[in-house]
Amino acid sequence: MATLFKDVLILDGAMEKAVRGHILVSKGRIASILDADQTPPTADKIVSGHGRMAVIPGFVNAHTHAAMTLVRGLGEEAPLMEWLQKKVWPVEARLTADHIYWGTLSAMLEMLAGGTTCFADMYFEMERVAEAAFSAGMRAALCRGITADPNDPGKAGRSLQNNLELAERWHGREGLITVQLGPHAPYTVPLNDMKKITEAAIDRGLGIHFHFLETEWELSYLRDELKATPESYLKDTGLINVPYAVLAHAVWLDPRLADTMSLSNITLVHNPCSNLKLGSGVMPLNDWLERDAADGSASVVRVALGTDGASSNNRLDMWEEMRTAALLHKGVNRDPLRVTALEALRMATYEGARAFGFAQKGMIREGWMADLVLVDLDQPHYIGADEENLAAYIVYAGSSADVRGTMVNGKWLYRRGDYPTLDREEILQKAREARAAITK
Ligand SMILES: [Zn+2]
Repeated sequence: MATLFKDVLILDGAMEKAVRGHILVSKGRIASILDADQTPPTADKIVSGHGRMAVIPGFVNAHTHAAMTLVRGLGEEAPLMEWLQKKVWPVEARLTADHIYWGTLSAMLEMLAGGTTCFADMYFEMERVAEAAFSAGMRAALCRGITADPNDPGKAGRSLQNNLELAERWHGREGLITVQLGPHAPYTVPLNDMKKITEAAIDRGLGIHFHFLETEWELSYLRDELKATPESYLKDTGLINVPYAVLAHAVWLDPRLADTMSLSNITLVHNPCSNLKLGSGVMPLNDWLERDAADGSASVVRVALGTDGASSNNRLDMWEEMRTAALLHKGVNRDPLRVTALEALRMATYEGARAFGFAQKGMIREGWMADLVLVDLDQPHYIGADEENLAAYIVYAGSSADVRGTMVNGKWLYRRGDYPTLDREEILQKAREARAAITK
């Protein structure tokens, strides 16, 4: 079935400005893009934009823990380790595979309504997460969060095995799912386990999704407990040699490591809202992005955007992350030229897709995946929006409330409040029951 977006403004993070035209979607791909003055082709379904709708690429939430929707609101406004150890982990220990399934679906309702077409998830019971995403037709990059336990020496090994089995069953499934290995963080995975994980990743050609230097405390942990610097840690564990590594947060990573971090297999994920809410600090994003322009070299440090889990954000809203990223670094650097709207859009779309092994996703190009978001510009806050300034309107004035449709592989997964592949009422009911069960 073909869908025609007729007379819409088209914008992605690599365009200098939006263009007005038509997009024909067929067989899950963007079949053709025509200028507004060309006669649009026929299609089974036509979305008429009259120049007052925009089509942008679907957002890729590059770091989340989707089922943490079930622990949202617990232990608010506490320091990170206290929050994890006293509030989150004890409740998470009661989660069953079924709870995680419904919590993930609940997160998917939120994400799809806001234009997110793909999410990179680190959690456990990931078989059920894969099932939830795959059956709904949503794209996902999945890893099993691997942690060690001094009282249970086999735990990290079992989790790795579990993660590898997940990869065997799901990696590459119909182009919708990729699987990474998910060592949780340097302070929850001992060095020897970490090395085994990176070896397994290299051996199987898998990527790694990892929390790195979210809080300042981790710097002293590396120094005092592991006798390592961030750079020596990344090298000695083999993390920089895996097919690709995605380092979530990296708030305290020193931008002087740009040469190491500009390797094409490494992506940092900026989670500005979560880092602000947990008081973790502000990633020096500007320094990472500046690298390219400053010395004119080809080295670019890749940065994607993510929300982190719903209990530390508390939204799963990529519009919010784009806006916060664009505003925050202007303020911190006292410079309105830092982190442009287009940079924020590219980080929220293309960079996340690329980081997790999805080719031809995140831009609007002929032949690329039809993972698209339909944005309603026929609203007061878009008066004055045109081809030249659309990126700024989207990032600074827009919000997820402007999304009228979210399409993955050319299929609507969200359209004007409805979810064609999901039973919203059932999901809400089951998620409520799961929340009650884990908190009673
Ligand atoms: Zn996280």
